[in-house]
Amino acid sequence: DVKKETMGFQTEAKQLLHLMIHSLYSNREIFLRELISNASDAIDKLRFAALSNEALLEGQGDYQVQVDVDKDARTITIADNGIGMNRDEVVEHLGTIAKSGTAAFMESLTGDQQKDSQLIGQFGVGFYSAFIVADRVEVHTRKAGEDADQGVVWESHGESEFSVEPRDKATRGTSIMLFLKDDCEEFADDFRVRSVIKKYSDHISVPVMMLKPAAPVAEDAEEQTEQPPEYEAVNEATALWTRSRTEISDDEYNEFYKHVSHDFDEPLTWSHNKVEGKFDYTSLLYIPKRAPFDMWNRDMARGLKLYVQRTFIMDDAEQFLPLYLRFVKGVVDSNDLPLNVSREILQQDAAVESMRSALTKRVLDMLSKLAKKGGDDYAGFWKEFGQVLKEGPAEDFANKEKIAGLLRFSSTHTDAPEQDQSLEDYVQRMQEDQEKIFYVVAENFNTAKNSPHLEVFRKKGIEVLLLCDRVDDWLMNHLQEFDGKAFQDVARGALDLAADTEEEKAEQEKLQKESEALVERMTKVLEGKVAEVRATARLTDSPACLVVGEFDMGAQMRRIMEAAGQ
Ligand code: ADP
Ligand code: MG
Repeated sequence: DVKKETMGFQTEAKQLLHLMIHSLYSNREIFLRELISNASDAIDKLRFAALSNEALLEGQGDYQVQVDVDKDARTITIADNGIGMNRDEVVEHLGTIAKSGTAAFMESLTGDQQKDSQLIGQFGVGFYSAFIVADRVEVHTRKAGEDADQGVVWESHGESEFSVEPRDKATRGTSIMLFLKDDCEEFADDFRVRSVIKKYSDHISVPVMMLKPAAPVAEDAEEQTEQPPEYEAVNEATALWTRSRTEISDDEYNEFYKHVSHDFDEPLTWSHNKVEGKFDYTSLLYIPKRAPFDMWNRDMARGLKLYVQRTFIMDDAEQFLPLYLRFVKGVVDSNDLPLNVSREILQQDAAVESMRSALTKRVLDMLSKLAKKGGDDYAGFWKEFGQVLKEGPAEDFANKEKIAGLLRFSSTHTDAPEQDQSLEDYVQRMQEDQEKIFYVVAENFNTAKNSPHLEVFRKKGIEVLLLCDRVDDWLMNHLQEFDGKAFQDVARGALDLAADTEEEKAEQEKLQKESEALVERMTKVLEGKVAEVRATARLTDSPACLVVGEFDMGAQMRRIMEAAGQ
């Protein structure tokens, strides 16, 4: 009994679709990259599943993606023999946008096409990009290992609803047929499609096959027998990271990044390395240009794509990098791990531990290099990911100094909110007898900049770092020194400026004597509210300020704890 069911897209899916169609129209050929990328992912998944269950292959282990065009019918079909989907999976993956944070993403849209197309790229367009060029899409799929009658057809005009119905499918995998819009018939043209595949999918490790151009008909046509159509690979079809660095162009690196990251934009930089020694592995690590919309979401997908001897094992292998480098994308291909490695094994494997520390160093080195290069790249990186990197010193004791060197601050040197001063710069500008790196923490930049604690520093011309990010208290709790110089919160404890002269010390003593009566009175009035009242020469303009004890919680930490009801 044939049962066709019609369902509505989720509201967000509808909006996203609409937006995508309009904002990506000028770059519409990318639909092919997205669909081939999905086909390749599906094949990777089957290859992995077949390691433990060979029956899934149904006796056919040659993996491939096949692209067919039909100029007259104005269609293009992308078919793979990967893992396929059952009915529930089709509905879930192609009918909803399961990604958490979609609603928040939609709210962040501006209505300005230029800006929104940047945003949508960051969200990842994926399967829905088919509707940029097609007014009808038909997906025929059947899960590997199941019977032919478990096949399903999903169909939609991309407006507000889609339908699913059972239909037999003899071969496993997914076939996606696009009925092209009037002005998109170029994608039913063999030559055009080949060039798009070359451009975007050369690095895909499975062959993307297209029909061989027909040979010219021979003179003596009687000799001709009916030949079955012959297909040929259009792409290079070797996993990019296995090739040598010198043979790979920047364009290829860029396209591969888009495939592994699901990002639309190009990466900021990358590092590709083959390591031989105690452990053999290849890594290709990328720093994105922009933070993903869900970077602060605990469930955000993070980690590298893990391969073992060129066989895909899993996405989002988190164990190869620390949390504060969660924005890094890429691939690690190990020769030492077993093919049946699981997440649990990864968590306690010595080889993984050693790779993790090597990969961490690699990322930090890549960032130092980017910082040294000058220009806007590092500033751009810092703007997007600085907040995350600030988690580093607390998480990664071994690389504390290296991370500290990558941090950027605003300071009284510029008095501007841009965080663009390195600790190295600060140390270079330190006064001759200055021993400490001074900083102030406040809830926002202006409060930090106008803090009464800074008055004496400004008077003496001593630079102070101005911290106002949420993580800053946490950061400074874990950052004791840089280049042998201790950090000192100017709002904490007694300040002993090295620059204090004998004269100033005498003045301070005099001041203390003179103020004894006042201090005594204030101590009484404020009893139970403050620990101590002290006369100070620190202030030049303000009559009084609050100081935190040397070992007390920072003012910001206190606010966070209060907010949490502690
Ligand atoms: P993404 O690739 O980022 O997950 P897509 O929108 O491209 O997002 O695809 C959504 C989901 O649909 C995929 O994660 C996958 O589960 C499923 N899917 C898409 N294409 C295929 C395919 N050819 N074979 C099997 N599953 C697919
Ligand atoms: Mg995809």
